[in-house]
Amino acid sequence: MLRFWFKEFPQYPCDHTDYWRTRLISYALLVTTSYFLILTIINIVTFSDFSLALLDGTGLLFSLGIFAWFRATGNVTVTSWAVTIMVTALILLFIVTSQGYSHSLYWATLVPPFAFFLLGRTSGTGVSTFTFFICALVVYEQMETQQPAFFAFGSLLNVIEVSIAHILLFRFYEQARSSAYDTLAIRNAEILQLAETDKLTGLYNREKLENTLIACLPGVDEQHPLSVMLLDVDYFKKVNDQYGHFEGDKVLQALAKKLKDLMREQDIVARWGGEEFVVLCTNASLETAMQLAQRIREDIAKQVICGHGLTVSVGVAQYVPGDSVESLLDRADVGLYQAKNNGRNSVIAA
Ligand code: GH3
Ligand code: MG
Ligand code: MG
Repeated sequence: MLRFWFKEFPQYPCDHTDYWRTRLISYALLVTTSYFLILTIINIVTFSDFSLALLDGTGLLFSLGIFAWFRATGNVTVTSWAVTIMVTALILLFIVTSQGYSHSLYWATLVPPFAFFLLGRTSGTGVSTFTFFICALVVYEQMETQQPAFFAFGSLLNVIEVSIAHILLFRFYEQARSSAYDTLAIRNAEILQLAETDKLTGLYNREKLENTLIACLPGVDEQHPLSVMLLDVDYFKKVNDQYGHFEGDKVLQALAKKLKDLMREQDIVARWGGEEFVVLCTNASLETAMQLAQRIREDIAKQVICGHGLTVSVGVAQYVPGDSVESLLDRADVGLYQAKNNGRNSVIAA
């Protein structure tokens, strides 16, 4: 319903700071347009008061003019000012003409939520201060003339109408706030994922692996051993030299996927850099990790990866008390170095 009224501006997607402003502008213009239209009709048809109808008709034209201009230009700043001035002027006109009687002053409380949301802190403060200053003047006049206050049906209507408007406004603001936080949470999750993922292979990157290792070390004991493997592709430079760097990239991507498939569910595979990978094997003694590494080495040597026959050399090390992340990985590196010296396509524990 009323979809035609709410235009989606491609320049203000839902995570843009002005998105909710465009929504509030559309809501406010819908209310003011309907308000002026109804009053114009009532003044002509029911009261035959053409001068009042002319005033309301002018308001209607203003409201529709701002709406049309906003749709055409999408200028949030200027429209925000136009809407705030129109709403504030309307409220002040009502308060001043009714001399603050019948709880008309209550309407002034609608100005700050509008002005702050649409104009920001500084201008919102200015417009609100001006509005309340006029209200204070009206009350001052009443005080001076010692007029009695009226509590008629109009008072009740004013209080009810403004209260409903407040609830609707604050529901709107809460929706805007929670939607902004939801979008932020999604963006944060995306950024975090980007920060811990290797772009080429989609595996965890070195930093994530190191952080995971740091987090795991305190939980390691005899019942929960931890081992790491450092894998390096043998003679990978030849693939690049013979088939080009892009082909080399494709091979690395396919190899990364293969490694992930070959590992156990609880193992964490990361790209250490270049054509080197680290596997963090939780709940794995040196013996278990060696068996796992041998199986992986054999599987890779047997398979054709992206059209290439590859082999890997692997260094394996188990965490011992007193180890740091560096000392543990250094030992695995020593194993890898020995595996290379051994003629490659082999697994060495260190
Ligand atoms: P070794 O058996 O001694 O490990 O021989 P190798 O050729 O694998 O080792 P070396 O360290 O000499 O070369 C590694 C090569 O890996 C060199 C580099 O061009 C390539 N490389 C590193 N990162 C990437 C990458 O992201 N993409 C591609 N295509 N190649 C990469
Ligand atoms: Mg290397
Ligand atoms: Mg290599």
